[in-house]
Amino acid sequence: MPELPEVETVVRTLEFLIGGLKITGIDVLYPPIVKGDVSSFSSALINKRFTGFSRRGKYALYTIEDVVLMVHLRMEGRFYVMDHDSPIAKHTHVIFHLENGKQLHYHDVRKFGRMEVLMPADVNVRLSMLGLEPFDSRLSGHYLKKMAGNRDIGLKTFLLDQRFVAGIGNIYADEICFCARLHPETNVRKISLKRFNEIANCIKMIMSQAIADGGTTIRTYTSSLGVSGRFQLSLNVHMRKGEPCRICAQTIIKTRVSGRGTYVCQRCQKRIAD
Ligand SMILES: [Zn+2]
Repeated sequence: MPELPEVETVVRTLEFLIGGLKITGIDVLYPPIVKGDVSSFSSALINKRFTGFSRRGKYALYTIEDVVLMVHLRMEGRFYVMDHDSPIAKHTHVIFHLENGKQLHYHDVRKFGRMEVLMPADVNVRLSMLGLEPFDSRLSGHYLKKMAGNRDIGLKTFLLDQRFVAGIGNIYADEICFCARLHPETNVRKISLKRFNEIANCIKMIMSQAIADGGTTIRTYTSSLGVSGRFQLSLNVHMRKGEPCRICAQTIIKTRVSGRGTYVCQRCQKRIAD
């Protein structure tokens, strides 16, 4: 599933490829992708231009003049910018015709992605369940400690909960736990303010590094790969089962935390003692 850095990369890539262009037509081939009525979805967007590109948590927000197109890619959603006479792939569900003769195809093998048209004033209300962005200056050790409160949950589960910090998924939760030298199952009630300060710094550092890595892919977009936001990651633990820890050379293990594949260096990452 794309996490914050991947969604940011998708948004910036589309800004580069289709920014300012007018939508001249829309084909919705699989209506459940669109939230609400398909004809009002289309009529709200046709003959308007892509004027703004932003992101909140894992949601992409495209301003189309007076409305906002909100997209969640979920598991497998991706965009392709195609020529108007390109064949339509099997899993293409929505096509935006653009004034320059190109088309924006939304492709989604699992069909879990969703798009919705909102009035700008409704976007914040719709996303009010999301916690702070990693780069929000209010995201501090104090904030995290307050959110953790007396919750009886592990650190990774806490990091994945979008109500506390928006945009972290399975990959970066593992990396943040490693950065903070804490086991993913460390109970958040037992984490000190000092440790939460370190976790806040790790969140900002890991996410900004990932966005920087993604940024290098924006200008190398190829229509055959599509815009999925995936890029070469420089990871310390995630997907490194059996490989040596970059700090201590201990073998990285894979375990399960809250049903998610989780990668840990058991020497570097401690559970805080009671
Ligand atoms: Zn280690």
